Amino acid sequence: MGEEMRTFGYLCPKCGKTVMKARSVFALEASGTEVDCGCGESALRVEYDGERYRLYVPCGLCGKTHVAVCPPERVLEGATALACAETKQFCCFIGPEGTVERQLGELAILKEKEGRQGEGEAFLDNVIMYEVLSELRDIAARPGGITCACGSGRYGMEIRRSAVDLICRDCGAKLRVPAATDRDLDDLCCHMKLVLPGKR
Ligand SMILES: [Zn+2]
Ligand SMILES: [Zn+2]
Ligand SMILES: [Zn+2]
Repeated sequence: MGEEMRTFGYLCPKCGKTVMKARSVFALEASGTEVDCGCGESALRVEYDGERYRLYVPCGLCGKTHVAVCPPERVLEGATALACAETKQFCCFIGPEGTVERQLGELAILKEKEGRQGEGEAFLDNVIMYEVLSELRDIAARPGGITCACGSGRYGMEIRRSAVDLICRDCGAKLRVPAATDRDLDDLCCHMKLVLPGKR
């Protein structure tokens, strides 16, 4: 029988990569151990005093190091996750390799999404989006400027990263106005009026 292993996973707060390594239960029971990131800038420390484990977790979500005290069974059996004290999201996983790998992958995706939102890159091209929105305002200001084929003149607007959706409030028909390139802007400027593709 092979030696029993436990996998530890966390997100490196320095380089942003996922760190995942296995340690033998034997080594963990003897003295505790360290799981370090390949970048050399962070390490998860596991200490054992004969009664409890103390884990020092570098947190990829808030950048701090969290300390968790766990009974041996939580570290050595089953699967567990430790939460970041700041964000309340899990930032460290312990358990069988497959489980840790999956959870860590989900965490990395979550972190990447948050990062993108934080950069303020709401639109593909801010200038084009601004121009498209002001053009839409001009069209809407004309009598019957924006209407739906169903006969409605009531619509809502949803602004996306590279387009603006006009949605009929009565029939739900949708007209997507692209707002990514100069060409999109030129196309829109040709229109005196816009008609949503609702059913007559
Ligand atoms: Zn790193
Ligand atoms: Zn944290
Ligand atoms: Zn309609």
